[in-house]
Formats: sequence, structure tokens, C-alpha cells
Amino acid sequence: MERWRSALVLVLSAVLFLGVVLIGPGSEMAELRRILGLGKDPLGEPADVVPGGVHAFLEHQPGQADEPVTWDPCREIRYQINPDQAPDGTEETVAFVQESVDEVSAITGLRFAYEGLTDRRPEHGGQGLVTARPDPVLVAWATADEVEELEGAVAGVGGATARSYGDDRWLWFVTGGVTLDADALERIAQERDGGGQARAILLHELGHLVGLDHVDSDAELMFADNVGQLDFGQGDLNGLALLGTGKCR
Ligand SMILES: [Zn+2]
Repeated sequence: MERWRSALVLVLSAVLFLGVVLIGPGSEMAELRRILGLGKDPLGEPADVVPGGVHAFLEHQPGQADEPVTWDPCREIRYQINPDQAPDGTEETVAFVQESVDEVSAITGLRFAYEGLTDRRPEHGGQGLVTARPDPVLVAWATADEVEELEGAVAGVGGATARSYGDDRWLWFVTGGVTLDADALERIAQERDGGGQARAILLHELGHLVGLDHVDSDAELMFADNVGQLDFGQGDLNGLALLGTGKCR
């Protein structure tokens, strides 16, 4: 009888607690609900963008042409930087990456968590295998000798790997990478406004990382070639904002 009673007290207090959490307003409550695995609230909100331009998505949900594969907006996108072969020193390199990541975060509402420096090397084309705890996104520099996707005029490659959870056929990006061509970036660093060009290349690859594909319009940064566009265009912004509105896991 006594045991029953204490069990009942426990359950009641838990229910009361749940009730408070579920109806509680404000971001603190949202955070608490998230920690408790209750309601799912995205960590951030996409920017308000003026409609227009063109965009395309890297991948769509199976059998659903209008639903892009996105990152989970309820979880931080963990990333690491390997500054080896970057044209600048480590501190400058980390700042260069973080500024562009912050910009993509502000537009998409997706939250990124910097997990520090690493000596991991890129594995483009070999990222099909995703383990239970996928590796953080890797931002790195390499030459075409190491990463063959960088051969020719390619200044960088970026992308992400998707997986589903449980029986759900819904896909989420869970890891990915951006690799900048060390030779190309070294050359660009010598040019006038090299900083702006390097930033544009990184933003373009981060666009791929969060799910944008190339478009045919040279008014967009997601045009396949670098033709002097230094910032995201209208269509890029619209695509990025949509990629921040994915489902939570
Ligand atoms: Zn591209």
C-alpha cells in the first residue's frame, strides 16, 4: 500500500511537470521541452526574405519532388576545421570559416556548433556510410592530388550525406563537408579583392552543405561558375530560408 502511494505521487508530479512544460511559453520552455524530448522546436528561425530568383535543392525526399532533404533544425550542425594548407594562419582561417557559417546560419535559422580544430582529412565520394553518431562536418583545404573532385578549375566542393531514422522514410542530412582547393585559394589570395572571392567560394560550398544545388542563373551565387557574384542572390536566399524549415527528427 505504501509503495503504491509513493509510485502514485511520482507519477502525478511527473504529469504535472509535463503539463507545465507543454503549456509554458517562451524560449526557455522550448529549450526545456527539447531537452526532455517533448515538443520539437527548431533552434532558430529562417530570415525573412523577399521572394524571387531561382534556387534548386541537392536532394529531395523519396517520391516527393517538392520536399527537399534538409538538416534537422532542432539540432546543431556540428563542424570542425582542418586549417592545414589554408593560405592564412590558423586564427585567421577559423575566423574566415566562422563568419561565413554565421551568415548561412542567420539566413537558414540552422544553428551550427564549432567543435574545434581537427587533423581529419576530407572523404568526398566516400561519405555514403553513416554511423550511429556521424562525424561532424569537416571544413578543409586540399589539392587535386588528394581530392580528385578538385581537378581542373574547381575551387571547392561541398555537400552532405542524408540518412533516415527508424522506419521513417524521411531523410535528414547528418554529416557533410566543404573542401576548398588549396592551390586555387592560394592564387586567389594574391588577387585584388581575393578575400571577397574566397568568401564567395566558401559561401557557395556552404550552400551545398545545407542542401542547395546549382542553378542556371548567374545572378545567383549557386551558379556553377564563379563569374564575379560575391554574395548570395535572391534565389539563393529563398532556397536557404526554405532549407531552414525542415522537419525535426
Ligand atoms: Zn557548386
